[in-house]
Amino acid sequence: MRGELKVVPVKGKWMIILFVLAIVMGTVAFYQNQQASGTEKKNVTQDTNYKNVEIVTLVNDGKFMRYAVNYPLFHQKELDDQIQSYADTALDRFKTTFSEATDIDENRRFELNIDYELVHYAKQSVAIHFTTYTYTGQQKGTTQTETINYDFQKKTFLHTKDLFQPNSDYLKTLSDITYTELQKDKTLSKDQSLLQKGTAPTAQNFSHFALKEKYVEFYFPASQVAAKDLGPQSLAIKKTLLKDILKSEYMNKTKNQNEIEEPNPKRKAVKLPQKSKLDPNKKTIALTFDDGPNPATTSQILNALKKNKGHATFFVLGSRVQYYPEMLGDILKGGHEIGNHSYNHPLLTRLPLKQAVQQVKDTQLMIQKASGYTPTQFRPPYGGTNQTINQALDMKVSLWDIDPEDWKIRNSQQITNHVLSHAADGKIVLMHDIYPSSARAAVKIIHELTKQGYQLVTVSELEQLKEERNKQTPVH
Ligand code: ZN
Repeated sequence: MRGELKVVPVKGKWMIILFVLAIVMGTVAFYQNQQASGTEKKNVTQDTNYKNVEIVTLVNDGKFMRYAVNYPLFHQKELDDQIQSYADTALDRFKTTFSEATDIDENRRFELNIDYELVHYAKQSVAIHFTTYTYTGQQKGTTQTETINYDFQKKTFLHTKDLFQPNSDYLKTLSDITYTELQKDKTLSKDQSLLQKGTAPTAQNFSHFALKEKYVEFYFPASQVAAKDLGPQSLAIKKTLLKDILKSEYMNKTKNQNEIEEPNPKRKAVKLPQKSKLDPNKKTIALTFDDGPNPATTSQILNALKKNKGHATFFVLGSRVQYYPEMLGDILKGGHEIGNHSYNHPLLTRLPLKQAVQQVKDTQLMIQKASGYTPTQFRPPYGGTNQTINQALDMKVSLWDIDPEDWKIRNSQQITNHVLSHAADGKIVLMHDIYPSSARAAVKIIHELTKQGYQLVTVSELEQLKEERNKQTPVH
């Protein structure tokens, strides 16, 4: 044998060694790769609840990545194509991210999990709610949801607008019901401005839904109606509340009856929100009190308002809230509004932007901590503000129409006379609830205006009322 080997020239011998080495390395790499990314197993089974539904499962358990993808098929081509494409797209995206990743180890194995819930399945329509969990090496994985609604009768996918009569103001109704219902949840009502924004009557806010047997359930992704860490939220609205605006085919009991009993929704609205007690035809005034709270004088005003069933707005200073946090509770209990008047009353336009914004943001936090309420109205000290500040704050800026200069005059009779002689429908009155003379004047003013037939409202209520009036008599 030795003799034979000698026959091979030196150069040729090296070629063979390199060739064999290349094959060995290639094979090892192939198996390592195979082990790393695993092998996909596909399984199709029959759904145990619905005889017409098949469940497809794709599972792969590799060393560096794994996935489990589940989706239903309905023997309805258009619907099945859409579902398959939803799953395929997510899976392809995941595989691409995996193949492009450079630093994966077994402890941070990539993961994709697509699961679904058949939320509703009836003659008329189906609703499938997908939940996708993806982990591709970041600190935390992400969870996304998607709901597909398909109408078997019309052979079409459903969007929110398809459920409602074309000429109905359905977004307004959905917005009213949702805001009222979610606000009852104390953890959600903490951030009023986010809740208001997230439930405002826009198509985007109500784009995620499931049409069910007795409910239309809406889904709100994390950070839409509440802080991100509170996660996604949902609200199922009973169809009977929507009977005037929902298309009749989606009200029909037989066509929309689920093949099995539908589970009860997590959070539901079964009653329409109470109509506001404001009367758009009544003379209206918004009294506002700045620079407080101050227990003795603020309480005097609160008592007078209570006696006359009136409301007002208190623009408080952060520097005073920290001394009298319990006053905020008293103000809110009476149905009044709390506004933000900065921390310690500087002329904001003279401060660097960052400090000006800090004045208001610190105060927001203090009010939230003391009362759980988040003001939406901001009144700049001395009325001094500019566009840059306003844009940075993203709050409503509230100024005034009637100013009796009560901080200077300190004579309750003169203050009362000034306000009463200037009083008119739709006006905002500026006063300060820290002076005894102002509090005495306020007591008289509240009594007298109520006697004259005015309804006393908060600044936000006045805005709402003006909006309602505009709707009744549209300006062209
Ligand atoms: Zn002030």
